[in-house]
This record gives sequence, C-alpha cells and structure tokens, in this order.
Amino acid sequence: MRIIAHVDMDAFFAAIEQRDNPRLKGKPVIIGGSRHRPRGVVSTCSYEARKYGVHSAMPLAQAVRLCPHGIFLPGNMAKYRQVSAELQQIFASFTDLYEPVSIDEAYLDLTDRYREYSSLWQLGLALKKAIRDQLDLTASVGIAATKSAAKMGSTLHKPDGLTIILPEDFDRIIGPLPVRSLHGVGAKTAERLENLGIRTVLDIRRFGRKAMISHFGKLGDWIYNLSCGIDPRPVEPRQTRKSVGRETTFDSDLNDEAEIKKTLKELAADVSRRLQAHHLWGETITLKLRDPDFTTTTHSLSVNYGINSADEISQAALVLLDRAWASIEPNRRKPLRLVGISVSNLSENRQLNLFTPPRESKVDRLLVDLNQQFGKGVITTGHLSPHDKRS
Ligand SMILES: [Mg+2]
Repeated sequence: MRIIAHVDMDAFFAAIEQRDNPRLKGKPVIIGGSRHRPRGVVSTCSYEARKYGVHSAMPLAQAVRLCPHGIFLPGNMAKYRQVSAELQQIFASFTDLYEPVSIDEAYLDLTDRYREYSSLWQLGLALKKAIRDQLDLTASVGIAATKSAAKMGSTLHKPDGLTIILPEDFDRIIGPLPVRSLHGVGAKTAERLENLGIRTVLDIRRFGRKAMISHFGKLGDWIYNLSCGIDPRPVEPRQTRKSVGRETTFDSDLNDEAEIKKTLKELAADVSRRLQAHHLWGETITLKLRDPDFTTTTHSLSVNYGINSADEISQAALVLLDRAWASIEPNRRKPLRLVGISVSNLSENRQLNLFTPPRESKVDRLLVDLNQQFGKGVITTGHLSPHDKRS
C-alpha cells in the first residue's frame, strides 16, 4: 500500500498577513484588492472573514457588502511565493517524492518513510508540527493510500486538521460525502449525477460501473473507480521547466507582415495550449526573429502576473514585433527566416490569476501594462550572434 499525504495550507495568504502583522490576528482579513476600488475577486480570506460568508473567488464588491469592517489587502505575491518555497523545503525534508499542485498545496509520497513513525497519526502530526514550528502557519493534512482520498481527507477538518483514511475506513469516511468532492466531478457532472438520484460517493457505487460508463463514458469509469478508493495516479515530483516555446522556420524567407502575424498567433495558441496542459503561467514573453543571414534577435517583456492564454501571448508577441520593427522603415525590413515565441518565469500558481478583475479583459490590462513599460524601457531587446547554438 502507498502512503500519500495531501497538505493544504489554511487561508494561506491571509494567514501569512496575520502572522506578519499582529494587529490583523483574529480579524477578518480579505486578500485581493482594496475596499475603495473593489473591482477584482477575493483571492483568500481569513477564517474570521469566512464567518460572514466571504469566500475565495467572490467579487470583492460583494465581500465589502458582507463584511464592511473587514481588512482588505491587495496581497503580496512575492512574499507568498517566498513562503511557498520555504514550505517546499519542509516537504523535501520528509521526502523527495513531493508534488506541489499550487502555491499552498502538495502531495507527498511517504511510502518509504511512514514506518519511522509509530503511527500514521504521528507522521501527520510531525508534518504539521514542522510547518508550524518553521513557518508559524497551520496546514490541514489528509493521509491515505491514494491521492484522491488524501485530498478529500485534507478538506474534512479544516483548519489545522489531520485526517487519516485507511482503506478499511474509506466507506465510512468518504462514502457519505457529496459527489462533488471527487476529483473530476465538476458542477455539470454533479448536476447530471443528481438528476440520476446519485448524491453521495456510495450512491455512485450502488449505481454500478456499467451504468456509470453508459451515462458518462470514460469519465464514468474514472469516477466509479474513485468511489471505490481506486486511484492509480502516482505522486509526480515536478521537473522544473524553465520555459515553454515554439518556433517555426518558413519554407521561404517571409516578408509579408500579415502572414508573419498570422504565424505568431498560431505559435501563441500552441504555446498557450502547452502551458495550460501543465497548469503553468509565465511572466516573461520572448519573441525570436531570424534573418535570412541567420542573424537572430530576441525581444522580451515581463509583466508581474502570470499569463497563459493564447490572446495574451499573441498580443504580447505582436507588441514585441512592432517594437522590433519600430526603428526600421517598412521597405527596409529584412524578410524573416524564422519566428519563435517562448514564455518563461513560469509558476504553477493559479491564485495569481484570481487577482484579475473578472470583467476587465485581461488582454486590455496587458496592453495597458505594456504601454507603461515602453515608457520605462522595461522591454528588452537582445542580440544573438549568427548561428547561435541556443536558437
Ligand atoms: Mg489552502
């Protein structure tokens, strides 16, 4: 049997702010923006704020109405990332086999370690104690034989919870939970299940594998397995990816601006698809251009939040192209042999994007940012020598 722990920090951003500013302790702290310009959504809020019905992803304006005396803070991603890095060091002290799933959550495969403790309970307490002692923060931990059960366990007794789910206890603990708590059951699937009279995990089992497959196909098979405590997904330590990029060499050197821009949009869509497949966001976009004589130039820009949509990436690439061409008269431009786009400064931090106001177009905001950057000269232009091996 494998032993997997799922660690989920409690109200991570808000707890860090309360830790670092004693005046915030015991108060409803809401991270995501200002009370006076409540345009975004709540990123995290303290448990004191949750009592008023405030929760993550709620529009800030609504949070202000529910909790008018709340303390609204914009948040400090650089600090939260730093704490997240310290948290990963703690995980690493328990096992090499840890898989961060977001800035404040990770799976740890402790199969080779748990015998060093007198019980799984003691192992869980040791993990929580290390986090509390070293970071002065609390975590909720679930320990089970599968990722899915461990994750469900960590949500059961928040905050500061510890839940052990042995296979023999699976039916008793997980069985009565709503179908929504299973990995892969979203709002739509939950609604369809409920229309079939299936409300709990045990209901799925009673419904049976065949019926689940006939109604939901492969997803039905997957959900049925989870309802039985079967989840073969291993804990996969993250290989740090430095950048995600795509480039293309034209069949013949290209001078057609529309065609070049069309190609950049296609490359951006491809890069976006790959970033999203790996749940990655990047803060630096680089455009690479190569002349027929193999002179290669790169042009980069950075924003202080993660982007990964095709629109954002292509918009950034087009801005960089305009920038690269700005000083050259159109009739003196050399044709291009190759164009490429890459995105770097990657993180898996989904929460970053919660800071984005929901109604404002992210692309518009990106353009505003980029124009400001032009003024400050943040966009950098690099030159690589001909036949550069890095290309
Ligand atoms: Mg959390």
